Parts: sequence; structure tokens; C-alpha cells
Amino acid sequence: MPDELDELYQQTILDHYRQPRNVGELPDADGRAEGHNPLCGDHVVVFVVVRDGVVHDVRFRGSGCAISTASASLMTETIKGRTLDEARALFRSFHALVTGQTRGPGREALGKLEVFGNVRNFPARVKCATLPWHTLEAALERRTDAVVTTE
Ligand code: ZN
Repeated sequence: MPDELDELYQQTILDHYRQPRNVGELPDADGRAEGHNPLCGDHVVVFVVVRDGVVHDVRFRGSGCAISTASASLMTETIKGRTLDEARALFRSFHALVTGQTRGPGREALGKLEVFGNVRNFPARVKCATLPWHTLEAALERRTDAVVTTE
């Protein structure tokens, strides 16, 4: 990866860490799940409102490292307005990206999420990046009492 691109990716991650988007709670959420990554200390709660099979609104709160916070922020930005199938497909593509599978499904659909491509070089950070997505998946399954632990 060229240095300039690497730099751009780092800046996007830092931007979303310092000013995360879609932070908060959704009182009328019909899906809510909580996730922990004990290896790093990341903690996230994801709220979703689903209407007619589409992610109508999504928010999160929690505390974590730059990677987990930026991942949650970019995830909420990316999946709002997507169908449930699209959201799940994005998670599969994202997972393939951060675990270094060169030909993951639907890579072209990732868009901004590509900034996490470098995570594959830091295996300890993979769980930070995927925690919000695992938690989202639980929330979408309406497992309102779910606690996801990535170990
Ligand atoms: Zn972390």
C-alpha cells in the first residue's frame, strides 16, 4: 500500500475516533446488544431500528480503542439505509478484509470501510475492528439481552 494512502486511512480512523458518528441511544430500538472485547477492554452497545427489512436507524455508545470506536462509527454510517441482507453481506466482506482474505466476497461494496485494510497486519486488533459488527449482528437478530464477547 502506498504511504499516502496509508496516511489517508490513518487520518480517517483518527477522525472517526475523535468525532464518532451516530453516538447515542435509540429509545425505540427494536434491537439492542452489548459487546465486550476483554483482550483490549473495548465495550460497545449497539441500537437498531428496523423498518420493512431496512436498517432505518442505528446508534452506539461505549468506550474503546481508536480501532473499535472508529469501526463502530464507520459501521453505523455505512449500514444506515441498507437492507438486513446487505448489512450482513457487508459484515462478511469486512471480516474478510480485516482477516486478510485477499478475495473476500463483495469487497467493492466496502467503500470507506477499506480504511481498516491495514488491521490484517495487527492480529490483536482484528477483534477490536469486528466487535461492533458482531454486536450489530446480535442486535439485528433482536437478541436484546445479548452480550457478545469476542475471544
Ligand atoms: Zn480495541
